Amino acid sequence: MDYDALYRRSIDEPEAFWREQAARIDWHQPFEQVCDHSQPPFARWFAGGLTNLCHNAVDRHVPQRPDQPALVYISTETGQERSLSYGQLYVEVQRTAAILQAMGVRKGDRVLIYMPMIPEAVVAMLATVRLGAIHSVVFGGFASHALASRIDDAQPTVVFTADAGSRGGKVIAYKPLLDEALKQAQHAVPHVVVVDRGLAPAPLQAGRDHDFHTLRREVMDAQVPCEWVASEHPSYTLYTSGTTGKPKGVQRDTGGYAVALAMSMDLIYCGQPGETFFCTSDIGWVVGHSYIVYGPLLAGMTTIVYEGLPVRPDAAVWWSIVERHRANVMFSAPTAIRVLKKQDPDCLKRHDLSSLKHLFLAGEPLDEPTARWIGEAIGKPIIDNYWQTETGWPILSLARGVDPHQAPRLGSPGVPMPGYKVTLRDDQTGEPLTGANQKGVLTIDGPLPPGCLQTVWGDDRRFVQTYWSTFPNQPVYNTFDWGIRDEDGYYFILGRTDDVINVAGHRLGTREIEEAVSSHPAVAEVAVVGVADEVKGQVARAFVVVKDPQRVADDAGRAALEAEIMRTVDGQLGAVARPARVHFVNVLPKTRSGKLLRRAIQAVCEGRATGDLTTIEDPAALQQLQEAVAR
Ligand code: AMP
Repeated sequence: MDYDALYRRSIDEPEAFWREQAARIDWHQPFEQVCDHSQPPFARWFAGGLTNLCHNAVDRHVPQRPDQPALVYISTETGQERSLSYGQLYVEVQRTAAILQAMGVRKGDRVLIYMPMIPEAVVAMLATVRLGAIHSVVFGGFASHALASRIDDAQPTVVFTADAGSRGGKVIAYKPLLDEALKQAQHAVPHVVVVDRGLAPAPLQAGRDHDFHTLRREVMDAQVPCEWVASEHPSYTLYTSGTTGKPKGVQRDTGGYAVALAMSMDLIYCGQPGETFFCTSDIGWVVGHSYIVYGPLLAGMTTIVYEGLPVRPDAAVWWSIVERHRANVMFSAPTAIRVLKKQDPDCLKRHDLSSLKHLFLAGEPLDEPTARWIGEAIGKPIIDNYWQTETGWPILSLARGVDPHQAPRLGSPGVPMPGYKVTLRDDQTGEPLTGANQKGVLTIDGPLPPGCLQTVWGDDRRFVQTYWSTFPNQPVYNTFDWGIRDEDGYYFILGRTDDVINVAGHRLGTREIEEAVSSHPAVAEVAVVGVADEVKGQVARAFVVVKDPQRVADDAGRAALEAEIMRTVDGQLGAVARPARVHFVNVLPKTRSGKLLRRAIQAVCEGRATGDLTTIEDPAALQQLQEAVAR
């Protein structure tokens, strides 16, 4: 079959197509309906079916591949390397499930996971869905305030954490950040489980906090069967940024997600049972959920869980892992490759990469020079893929699993994947743009295919209003990305239409960063914009109006306050959200109606023309901004 036939079938005969795909997973009870779309934009995939994500990722592989490594943990931070076979993973998951169960975790309860990249984190995710509970993994790089708001939204029964993570050899204590978040949160978390790695002191609060290793020793023989849940039962929520300051809990189902991932492993990533998948992301992001944890395990593959940097001990570390573990599929982000690009390409060539079929890159635009450089350096096809936390798996990519000769096109993430009815639309009218090479908003007609978000956790209204209400009378899903399609149907992504920025593949809301900056008592007003950066794709820059101009009257004052504001952001959101620069101005450029001219600020920072500014309130504001940037 070729790509066109595959894609057409998914659109023209969705029932038959998805019924076939659904056979890729085990169902405890068969579904009655492929898709219940009677209440759009909500879609219930495989309605009436009962299944379990952990069963499909772990239990069902145990008879066939008990001794095959399910998970290989490699830490260049602690020098550890550990492997868990499917048989061992099955045992470990039941132990952790027993611990959660003893704390009262039942179907539908939430377990928040705030962990570094260690096997216990993956086990905690699997144990949670085993019980029919819902996990919410919060990226370890987030700090107390960000964590507190997610705790309040998810209202977890248990928080799973570790004493510390480590990055570039520097220990980052997690437990004190969590303790502070628990103080800030309204929701009282009944239980905290701490995996003590011996990296940092983590005093336990009696009655609330528990030592994981002690608990584990008490449940060595635990047998905890999977809880069969309805296909549409939520498996997890994952918070992501949008236009407003408050992060949204993207809610994922169980059956649809399992089917979509299982399909994607085969059709997109060309990953087969028994092979090894190496995804360099973090479990705190959607790429980690789908392609460190669930995708590879659903496919009966070995997944590599890597804790460390791409350049430590040297720039060849990933490639030595590929060689040693005979990795067949690799998945990373353009930023990481741009970091490697600064190193000697020969160090990549030192390793035997013959096992590797493809390198997949996602999370941010893949620029042509980077794609070309890495393609030549490793001599493998580089496959871009475009998707979002919301969709859970690629919207655009190539289907090399069915069409091995489908050619990548530099600068394009590819073509629509099965089930995605992608349309570019006029940003004002919402009318579809049918011609080639027209720039429009990338939208998807409902129902979204299996695996995509069901709703926003606890807020159906927000789901409808945020994603489905951009164009009156055109209830289509908005990705908030600009796109363009060429004559051959290949899409190109041109950046976000909203105030979301993408720093090193990490999605951040500028409003969220502005809120954090504003919490510094010296700040009267702030604007944060994303500015093009050679390595990270984009970085955040903050423009601040201070309450007392005396504080920023000289270089020393400005430097001191800049550092203080950065520390404030570190403390609230985490270093991932820290602006690369904080500039001080007397006034921010706004329209006469008071709207911040973000695009103009961004243009000034990037040295571009600011475009039409007839509505600007005070033209001197831009002049001043220019001076601040030059300084
Ligand atoms: P996240 O939800 O963190 O995965 O971020 C999703 C956003 O990242 C998308 O809406 C795009 O703006 C951007 N993005 C992800 N993958 C790509 C890609 N392959 N090419 C261009 N932009 C991408």
